[in-house]
Amino acid sequence: MPSTSTAPVPHDYPFLAQPRTAHPSADMPCAAPFWPRHTHPRVTPVKGAPVSYRVLITGSRSWKDLGRVRDRLMDLLPDPVEPGAEYVFVHGKCGKGPDAVVDDWCEENAWWVDNLGAALISEPHPADWDHCAPDCRPGHRQRRRDGSTYCPGAGLRRDAHMVELGADLCLAFIAPCTLRGCRRRKPHGSHGASYTADLAEKAGIPVRRWYE
Ligand SMILES: [Zn+2]
Ligand SMILES: [Zn+2]
Repeated sequence: MPSTSTAPVPHDYPFLAQPRTAHPSADMPCAAPFWPRHTHPRVTPVKGAPVSYRVLITGSRSWKDLGRVRDRLMDLLPDPVEPGAEYVFVHGKCGKGPDAVVDDWCEENAWWVDNLGAALISEPHPADWDHCAPDCRPGHRQRRRDGSTYCPGAGLRRDAHMVELGADLCLAFIAPCTLRGCRRRKPHGSHGASYTADLAEKAGIPVRRWYE
C-alpha cells in the first residue's frame, strides 16, 4: 500500500481508486534503473499483448529480514505503474524465507495496481520433490522423518526451470550456508539461492544480490 496515502484504505473494496503521489517506498533509495525491457532472449514482445515484466526472486530459506524483501519488491513497481502492464513475480513457493513473502506481497498489493489498470501476478513454481529426473542416480533419494522419500535434486531442477523461462531481472536474497556436512570453506552463501543467481547471470538476466 502506498505509504503516502492519508485515508485508511479498505482492503475489501478493491476498485477504489487511490491517488499515488509519491513512490510507495520513498523513504528507501529506489534502485533505478529498474525494469530493463526484455533483455533476455526468450521473451519476444507480441504486438497488442500486454507488456509483461518478469522478475525472478530467489532466496535462502534461512533469510531473516523479510521486511527488506518487501521493500525491494515495492521498489520495482514504477510510479505510476504502466497501464496495461503485467508485473509478474516468479518464485519457488518455498514455505520459508523470501519465497513465502512474494505470494503475500502480491496478494496485498494486487488491488491498487489493478485500480491503476495494471496487474500484479505471483507465479509460483514449487519443486516436485516426489519425482526424479531421468538422469537421477539410483539410490540418491533421501528419507524424510515420516519415512517417505524425496529427490534432493528437485529444488535445483526447479530453479533451473525458472531461469529457463526467462526474466527481466533477478533478485537474490542470500543468507550464509548452514548445511550440515557442507565442506566448503565457511562463510559462503546458501547453495540454492547462490546457484539460481549464478545461473540467471549466465543466462544474461541482470541479477541483484543482497546478503545477510
Ligand atoms: Zn532424483
Ligand atoms: Zn555450503
